[in-house]
Amino acid sequence: YELTKGFDPEMYDAMMKEVERQETHVELIASENFVSPAVMEVQGSVLTNKYAEGYPDKRYYGGCEFVDIAEKLAIERVKKLFNVKYANVQAHSGSQANMAAYFALIEPGDTILGMDLSHGGHLTHGSPVNFSGKLYNVVSYGVTKETETIDYDQLEALAKEHKPKLIVAGASAYPRIIDFKRFREIADMVGAYLLVDMAHFAGLVAAGVHPSPTDYAHITTSTTHKTLRGPRGGIILTNDEDLAKKINSRIFPGSQGGPLMHVIAAKAVAFKEALSDEFKEYQKQIAVNAKKLAGVLADRGFRIVSGGTDNHLMLVDLTKQNITGKDAEAALGRANITANKNTIPFETRSPFITSGVRIGTPAVSSRGMKEPEMEIIGNAIADVLDNINDDAKIADAKGRIIELCGNFPLYKGKLY
Ligand code: PLP
Repeated sequence: YELTKGFDPEMYDAMMKEVERQETHVELIASENFVSPAVMEVQGSVLTNKYAEGYPDKRYYGGCEFVDIAEKLAIERVKKLFNVKYANVQAHSGSQANMAAYFALIEPGDTILGMDLSHGGHLTHGSPVNFSGKLYNVVSYGVTKETETIDYDQLEALAKEHKPKLIVAGASAYPRIIDFKRFREIADMVGAYLLVDMAHFAGLVAAGVHPSPTDYAHITTSTTHKTLRGPRGGIILTNDEDLAKKINSRIFPGSQGGPLMHVIAAKAVAFKEALSDEFKEYQKQIAVNAKKLAGVLADRGFRIVSGGTDNHLMLVDLTKQNITGKDAEAALGRANITANKNTIPFETRSPFITSGVRIGTPAVSSRGMKEPEMEIIGNAIADVLDNINDDAKIADAKGRIIELCGNFPLYKGKLY
């Protein structure tokens, strides 16, 4: 990075500080991960220079023969990974993947049934501040008060009452396995399409740690940068030839221009990694680590929403401790623990304050951390949250976290 250092020292400085932050903090944001040096190498390559509007062998620009290879590799690998017939790998993000999926399936003004944001759903599942809430008539389902798991009876009743054209399954803050078969049965009862947004748990699906939605959903979307550990981006999968054609046209020219060929190539590298046995072991460890961390926190007196986790994340309810998610996030940050405040089901506070924090294990598992390290992290979290006004106790936790990070170097101090 000598070029950046010489030409743009301010940018170099910011990047080096970010390297330092990533090396010395425990990253528990459930949607984040650390990509491999190979993924970063390809993403930072000459492939960024190429315009390639269209699809492989059908481009609107010359000189696409080599980026065609990259995109075909990405498509073939992701099809194998998720056992589907058709894949679009051009979506710039998870949100754009969802937008294109909606455009392929329904018309503006149609009714959609998606998971309530405060119960774990994503903005693109019908939030009023998002395109999905503005273009469609949104009905929301959620979790039950008793179990804090998806209320499938409510889902069925709402589907029968509102006759949505589309049901959306998938979430950003839901710690349990989702029953895709039940979703599809309900969709079929009312003649709705089923879209599964597996952004959060796609890596677990790829490794067989979470059931796959692709046999049940008409369309499956995902981000590539969460548990899947690829570059920032989206994918859209289907087994239906007509839908596949629609999806492609809704991405280009429908909602995007030129594809990001460097990102698509990096997706291909990440998919190759995800097809490996090592990746399967990694995904298993994510779930083992999440269970262990949830157990440590529960033993220290924290209430885990729904009583635990089946996947890569947990929601911690701080009501009993009488602290807000906002304050918890800030206090944890002072101990080099990065997590995010999050609403919990039946939340009483605003989304800016919240009563919970969301904690995920994909990134710490990428560093090679296992159950003993979850014990250290869990106790550090509990020590901080039990003493959010005690600087000495927080400094002590920070010391333990920095030592832990030092034992699990990330990119070995390099800026890739
Ligand atoms: N879908 C789900 C379930 C998500 O959690 C997210 C991001 O957090 C997205 C879609 C959107 O992805 P992006 O941030 O790439 O637009």
